[in-house]
Amino acid sequence: MQRPSWQGQWGPSSAQLELKGKTVLVLGLGRFGGGVDAALFLARSGSRVIVSDAARPETLQQSLAQLAGLENIDLRIGQHRPADVEEADLLLVNPAVPDESPYLATARALGRPITTAVNLFFQHCPARIIGVTGSNGKSTTAALIAFLLEKARPQDATYGMVWLSGNIGNIPLLGLLDQIRPEDLVVLELSSFQIPYLELIGKGPKVAVLTNLTPNHLDRHKTFEAYCLAKEPLFALQPLDPKDPALSVFNQEDPVGMEWYRRYSGQPGRFCRTFSPDQLSAELTHALPLPGRINQANLAAAMVVAGHFSVTDQAAAMVLPAFKGLPHRLELVATIDGVRYYNDSIATTPESAIAALEAFEQPKIIIAGGSDKGLSYQAFGQVVAKRAKVAVLVGATAQRIAEAIMACPDNQAKIIFVKTFEQAVYLASQNAQPGDVVLLSPASASFDMFDNFQQRGLEFARLVRQLATKTS
Ligand code: ADP
Repeated sequence: MQRPSWQGQWGPSSAQLELKGKTVLVLGLGRFGGGVDAALFLARSGSRVIVSDAARPETLQQSLAQLAGLENIDLRIGQHRPADVEEADLLLVNPAVPDESPYLATARALGRPITTAVNLFFQHCPARIIGVTGSNGKSTTAALIAFLLEKARPQDATYGMVWLSGNIGNIPLLGLLDQIRPEDLVVLELSSFQIPYLELIGKGPKVAVLTNLTPNHLDRHKTFEAYCLAKEPLFALQPLDPKDPALSVFNQEDPVGMEWYRRYSGQPGRFCRTFSPDQLSAELTHALPLPGRINQANLAAAMVVAGHFSVTDQAAAMVLPAFKGLPHRLELVATIDGVRYYNDSIATTPESAIAALEAFEQPKIIIAGGSDKGLSYQAFGQVVAKRAKVAVLVGATAQRIAEAIMACPDNQAKIIFVKTFEQAVYLASQNAQPGDVVLLSPASASFDMFDNFQQRGLEFARLVRQLATKTS
């Protein structure tokens, strides 16, 4: 596999760009705070900022309110316009803007440099960066790394404060820069959309972690190979200094990860390490409050990084029981009458719901279904048929999931169709016995009934708590 050179294809390098006095077009304001954070940073850096988003202003209200009336920020909402690109010296793109965007094409044709918030962060961050990427487990692994470095900090720690940001929650990225000191560590979760742009500045993180690679986002990257290549600059661009080596961390059970491990091992200025759940001491697996082998893998990855900064197994085992995990990811909501209720609303694909089903040994009642992304449910149906006791199905994909389950000759799962989410939780509880697990892991997006997966997860938690008050 050869790494593509994005430079040239993406326009001129933005490594040496001055922001002061420049007109910067923020392409894509978005609703999740990233565009606001970038616009404010650019304005503080002395740029004149044009913010462009094609969405209707009503859908961007919260973001717009944070920028309204600010000097040096010009809001142009409702459509992207080629004239805005022409007016700008530099484009800051939201990585969700597709590569084929005509505005990116215009920028390239005009020779306008392109950057991203992550690129600016890499250029301006004085501290060492720990970049975490992969198809699954990024957020959990990044959160575990930050938690262990912070809470199991060695007495003679070689680092200052620990920061966690990137794709995780709504933590601003560039807004943190003022507070970060050179001795600190910054843990960043990074996606395959953000990483290729690092080629434009030729900079990677001091520590890079690949959790695993499975086909994902193929609507954007087209092939699995292209998707893998999009992630690889995180490693290829790590700074190699024999006096202060970089660390590259790969999954022993992941074929692509091991290919990269072999490729990058032995380079001066770099340590390569691998992880596997089998490496974890019994003490650590007992201390981990998250279920399943997948989370043991996430912890094993986190321990390689924490260990590099001298965190010991013993110190980690002491603090791990207090790790809360992340909301909506195999999150234990409540235990009622001996039945444990888990919210895995973030599982919007069959693969992540399969991983969730495989995380538990107990009898399982799964609540699945939601809006249809056109994904195949064949493999998911097989795992439900084998591992679940009951499948409560709701939403647009319910029928397709049921067909996939029933296509398995040895199906053990009872199928229940429901119309509402409330019925789903109620009937799941009615079919559960002490010792069982009720698992919301929909294998589908949420948009047929909810605004997003967070709202779905919160509604699940609310309904579960209501059950608790009924039974007590
Ligand atoms: P990401 O940030 O990559 O989306 P998360 O840590 O947010 O991953 O976890 C999302 C869901 O993916 C979890 O609820 C779980 O079902 C599944 N998952 C977590 N870690 C792994 C892993 N190492 N391998 C496979 N699936 C995983």
